Amino acid sequence: TSAGARTLSLRGIALSFGNVRAIDGLDLDVKPGQIHGLIGPNGSGKTTTLNVISGYYAAKAGTLQLGEDALAPGMPTLRAVNGIARTFQTPRVIGEASVLQNVMIGGTIEGQASFVEALLALPRSRRDERVLAARARALLGVVGLETLADVRADRLQHSELRFIEIARALMLEPDFLLLDEPAAGLSSDEIERLAALIRAISARGAGVLLVEHHADLIFDICDQVTVLNLGRTLAAGTPAEIRVHKEVVSAYLGG
Ligand code: ADP
Repeated sequence: TSAGARTLSLRGIALSFGNVRAIDGLDLDVKPGQIHGLIGPNGSGKTTTLNVISGYYAAKAGTLQLGEDALAPGMPTLRAVNGIARTFQTPRVIGEASVLQNVMIGGTIEGQASFVEALLALPRSRRDERVLAARARALLGVVGLETLADVRADRLQHSELRFIEIARALMLEPDFLLLDEPAAGLSSDEIERLAALIRAISARGAGVLLVEHHADLIFDICDQVTVLNLGRTLAAGTPAEIRVHKEVVSAYLGG
């Protein structure tokens, strides 16, 4: 099977902070080309789940697999080698660097762990730099921000930084993309653009795991939805199933 055809699987993942069980026996599958929504109230374990998958935290129990291969607890750089990229709840950029440079560092393994180190590592050669820059410009086009390539990142608006982060994550050509609240702070027009972008990414074969508070976006674009509560799965199914799930509606959707 090709690298792109593997499923990202979590089985029995658990992680505590002191005596807080942030995730408590979580099973989750993200298939290639699928958009999987992860929702739940504040503190239900969504971000912790992304941090385990992307290697920032090591689970205390359970297994994390890509197809047949076990993913060892470990560093974000190893996840990048495995084709897993992410964005952050609060966009992380190097303000003094240009937008183009901020996107380019996503194309380096160092860029997955420390953006500053990655910036210092650029360029290894003029030729590598040209290749990375061309790809970064193309991806800025994909997210609709090509005119900002040479602007300092600290001049950008918050909503623009969200799209820059996605462009940076796409530099890895990831098999799986983890998005942590990408719609936060966006206008409804921007959310439309974001929805189209996420659909295009999944249509090219990447699996997307989307943590999002914006329920309309989740129900609009997801193929599968997992609802967390207190670090456990409260419900899992298609958006149509989740919308009418009794416990979800009363506990979370406020119906
Ligand atoms: P969500 O993303 O759904 O809001 P989190 O994954 O951030 O939830 O948090 C799950 C639980 O773990 C919460 O009770 C939170 O307070 C706790 N938690 C998360 N990260 C840490 C941390 N680094 N140190 C201590 N507790 C944490």
